[in-house]
Amino acid sequence: MPELPEVETVRDGLARHVLGRTVTDVQVRRDYSVRRHEAGPVDFAARLVGRRLEAAVRRGKFLWLVLDDGPGRGDDALMAHLGMSGQLLVRGPAAGAAGTAADPVAAPGPAGWVEHPHLRVRLALDDGSALDFVDQRTFGHLSVPDLVPTADGAAGGHGSPRPVLPAPVAHIARDLLDPALDRTALVAAVRARRTEVKRALLDQTLVSGVGNIYADEALWRARLHGTRPTAALRATDVERVLDAAASVMTEALAQGGTSFDALYVNVNGASGYFDRSLAVYGQEGRPCPRCGTPVRRDAFANRSSYTCPRCQPRPRPRRR
Ligand SMILES: [Zn+2]
Repeated sequence: MPELPEVETVRDGLARHVLGRTVTDVQVRRDYSVRRHEAGPVDFAARLVGRRLEAAVRRGKFLWLVLDDGPGRGDDALMAHLGMSGQLLVRGPAAGAAGTAADPVAAPGPAGWVEHPHLRVRLALDDGSALDFVDQRTFGHLSVPDLVPTADGAAGGHGSPRPVLPAPVAHIARDLLDPALDRTALVAAVRARRTEVKRALLDQTLVSGVGNIYADEALWRARLHGTRPTAALRATDVERVLDAAASVMTEALAQGGTSFDALYVNVNGASGYFDRSLAVYGQEGRPCPRCGTPVRRDAFANRSSYTCPRCQPRPRPRRR
């Protein structure tokens, strides 16, 4: 599942390659991939054709392309949820039949392109390029929701100064790299929540953008076990783990920022560039980079949590 750095890499790629372009045609190859667009695939396409892509914006793991709002048009956006395997690929006229190692190819499509076997939605653009939504496992989806005002009047996300965001994202909190984030309020909200610290980090209504990978890395850096109750943490502990999460995501972003070229925007963060820098996530049995103790894996929700048992001692059971 892509987290903030992977989605930001995609946003940045879209901002470089498709802004200013007008959608000339929309092909929905699989209706399921636009299932969250309640008015259906025909309306989805109709809302996009003739519209110019004006801004690429991200909040946490949520990504949207703002559409121009000329006469008779609503204030809306193309929203992408990448799910487990979703990718947005920018196909240029010069791409020809070229695929990449990470992009298995099948039958040739229009304009001589080689189409991805899991192409779900294609937006043809006015310069002869296309924006393809490719999704093998189909957990991802596209929709065209209305934009609504932000609760705090600040920018909706990274990539546009406008204080609006898609209605389905209105309940999503600001992320740790958002300059409009109120850190003091966030620290207080985390401590007020009756939960465990890892669950708090993953709660997108509290703080957005952090998923399982960066939560485990942040907790290791902060030397906190994820099952520590937030109510028992000091404000400095909460600040330390939030700072760690922001740092690890910023470092991942720095490594991922150069991972795509002008013709190919790879949006799938699952097996990405940052793997070699992970201290504990996915490192079961390997030595903790700080103390050498073997990293431990525990079941967490339907996934896993990775910790160093020495650097991150479990909290003692609470007495009744
Ligand atoms: Zn350790």
